[in-house]
Amino acid sequence: MTVRGRRLFYVPLLLLVACGGDSQLPSYDLGGSAMGTTFNITLVAPPADTDLDLLKASIYEKLEHIENIASTYRSESELSLFNSSASTDWITVTPELCSMISAAQEVSVATQGAFDITVGPLVNLWGFGPPQQDSELPTNEEIHAAQANVGYAALQTDCDKSLMRKATPGTYLDLSGWAKGYAVDEIAVLLNAKHLENYLVEIGGELRIRGHNAEQGKFSIALEKPLQNNDMTYTVLAISDVAVATSGDYRNFFMHDGHRYSHTIDPRTGRPVDHDLTAVTVVSTSTAFADAMATALLVLGPEDGHALAEKLGIAGYFLVRSGNGVEERSTSQFEDLRRM
Ligand code: ADP
Ligand code: MG
Repeated sequence: MTVRGRRLFYVPLLLLVACGGDSQLPSYDLGGSAMGTTFNITLVAPPADTDLDLLKASIYEKLEHIENIASTYRSESELSLFNSSASTDWITVTPELCSMISAAQEVSVATQGAFDITVGPLVNLWGFGPPQQDSELPTNEEIHAAQANVGYAALQTDCDKSLMRKATPGTYLDLSGWAKGYAVDEIAVLLNAKHLENYLVEIGGELRIRGHNAEQGKFSIALEKPLQNNDMTYTVLAISDVAVATSGDYRNFFMHDGHRYSHTIDPRTGRPVDHDLTAVTVVSTSTAFADAMATALLVLGPEDGHALAEKLGIAGYFLVRSGNGVEERSTSQFEDLRRM
């Protein structure tokens, strides 16, 4: 039996807002839906001349713009047009799409393809992409056939000339593991340009913080710690001027014959990740990088993921299923943040 009732609670991070005291600064919350999820933005003590309505409009415009470039859920997006072309000649794309792709490719290189935006045919085959879901599991033949179109190293970019080239007519790029983090970074650029110095921007659990909260302290972020009985506990981080992203196997998955199939695909096996690592949080300076790196570390699993994060000097926080609960594992960089 396949249960495809996705459990779509989309915010894997809880924000703790301290109670207001006398020193409470004015703060404004903007929120809404975008990119198949929700977003929340908190602005603390914006400059007096900030037009909040105008700001909100430009944030929506920015999100629309990114979805029109990078969403596989919009058939007319620039990425969808690239995906649906069968040409393996160089294709002219916008500089923005090219730079997104080439930045994502850098994470593929650093993780030896654990993060790989060419994984799209497998994502779709397993029912986690835009095409209609099939209630049957894919066969080995279908997986092998999809894998023939997967492999970041064969995707070419020449961003000086804004050109990209598919490896095979079936190359299909999936930026879902990049675009939310990228959008958070782009909104931060927009806020910085308007001279906002204290804010929190969060899209679907990927977030970025600058400056201080309304109590003039650090923003507190609670990282979910799922327990076997569906309860949650939290690890709290008080931080500023960082990006935080989490990838987990417990929010978007389906069950088939008692087995969990997560939306994170291991490009090496062509199958959803299958190990005891249930969530990875990465703290970095770029949300796009943190978003992608969290996915890569989740693919690599509790040992290899932790070892790579340690080797690359990444602040990573790993939750590993163990008995009836979860075990925490952090890299030394993450421990440093915790002590701050
Ligand atoms: P999470 O918060 O769990 O990382 P995201 O939405 O950020 O979730 O990213 C997961 C999405 O990334 C999947 O739904 C799929 O579209 C895509 N994806 C799955 N596996 C990979 C992979 N190995 N590399 C890059 N993207 C992937
Ligand atoms: Mg992610």
